[in-house]
Amino acid sequence: MMISKTPLEDWILNKISSNGELSHLTRSAIEAFQLEKIRQTISYARSKSRFYRNLLAGFGSDPVITINDLSMLPFTVSDDLINHPLQFLCVSQSAVERCVTLHSSATTGPAKRLFFTKEDLNHTLDFFHYGMSTLVKAGDRVMILLPGDRPNSVGDLLSRALLRMNVESIIHGFVISPEKTVEAVLKHDIKCLVGAPVHIFALFQSGNGRKYLKGRITKVLLTTDYVPDIISSVLESEYNCEAYSHYGMTEMGWGGGVECEAHCGHHMREADIFIEIIDPKTGQVLPDGEAGEVVITTLNRVGMPLIRYRTGDISRFLTKPCPCGTVLKRLDKIFCRMNAAVYLDSEKPLITQLLDEELFALPGVMDYKAEVSTRGNKDCLTITLSLSSKSNRDEVCAAAMEKIMIIPQIESCKKRLFIEPITCFEEIILSPGAQKRVLIDNRKEHL
Ligand SMILES: [Zn+2]
Repeated sequence: MMISKTPLEDWILNKISSNGELSHLTRSAIEAFQLEKIRQTISYARSKSRFYRNLLAGFGSDPVITINDLSMLPFTVSDDLINHPLQFLCVSQSAVERCVTLHSSATTGPAKRLFFTKEDLNHTLDFFHYGMSTLVKAGDRVMILLPGDRPNSVGDLLSRALLRMNVESIIHGFVISPEKTVEAVLKHDIKCLVGAPVHIFALFQSGNGRKYLKGRITKVLLTTDYVPDIISSVLESEYNCEAYSHYGMTEMGWGGGVECEAHCGHHMREADIFIEIIDPKTGQVLPDGEAGEVVITTLNRVGMPLIRYRTGDISRFLTKPCPCGTVLKRLDKIFCRMNAAVYLDSEKPLITQLLDEELFALPGVMDYKAEVSTRGNKDCLTITLSLSSKSNRDEVCAAAMEKIMIIPQIESCKKRLFIEPITCFEEIILSPGAQKRVLIDNRKEHL
């Protein structure tokens, strides 16, 4: 199959070359544009935001002359967004079109706040438009399995972006009952879904999903959380459904980057966001190809620019050119999130990804909940599965136990780890869409 070049390339060319002075996009044109925008962002943030005025006080009047100079500047961390959100604001509060409150885990406790102006939201709309044109075309019908009740919420923006290319959409919200959502998909004659990886997977694995979605839903965009390989491969092999991964976060203005038809790495909004990969321990910038923490600097943000913001996600840039032929870089899948690693015995942490690859491979597993707690002087791992109604529960639970025992992080510490027999929920319970899925570590309370 001929692989089409990512539509992001022409979009970014237009953004960089607004007078049409460039005939095609080159790395050097992108990098020159990014450097200029970084310098403007630093100067703007210092003059308008109290946080950056203080943070960058000792760094001279023009601290970034070449791109390497950026690595001398301090990082911004999520605690800064929790502790002093208003100090980031560069416009009057009346110019804020959308304020987002982001809770890290439960709906209580400390939250980050992010502010966007109309112009900021327009950049996101643009990205959604060109990003989605990778997989849908005029006349298609899309169901958005993300919240969209409020104006300028992620679902609302996506729906408006789709309308620009004559794609109709239904904003459904997060999936709670897979069977009900499948009914809605059929009723609205939907051809493409956008939603959380486990939510979309659960639709296909549900009774009516198995019956009716194959051949009907041929493309899906998986977003809001990292995408387990097993989910994309089951969608492809069992349902002939092509899964596109999107990587983004509210801090990026929701959208970040999306795969092209080659499905090997995310092409990022390089005219809106500058990305560095750093060693999370030393803070040093790593060369392309090496894995480390993703750090972003916004290039066009008006309401609340971010400079060297540490995302907590671990990934890397792929060094070979993409088969689609673009000059845009490729950010690999997200390997893990730094705050989601649970250390048992070994040096390598147990992360949800490892459990996902084993458990989602079992027939009928739609989702699961995993928790590490303390039992006497041992760590205790408890896993509860969400199974489709047709599954043979005892068989799947037993198979799940065998599967997790071959994970090296579990195998290597099995003498000191108590593993509860794996059970399943009575009803289908899916992870809530508003938070990223984690392996729950309840041991912290006992320390
Ligand atoms: Zn590509």
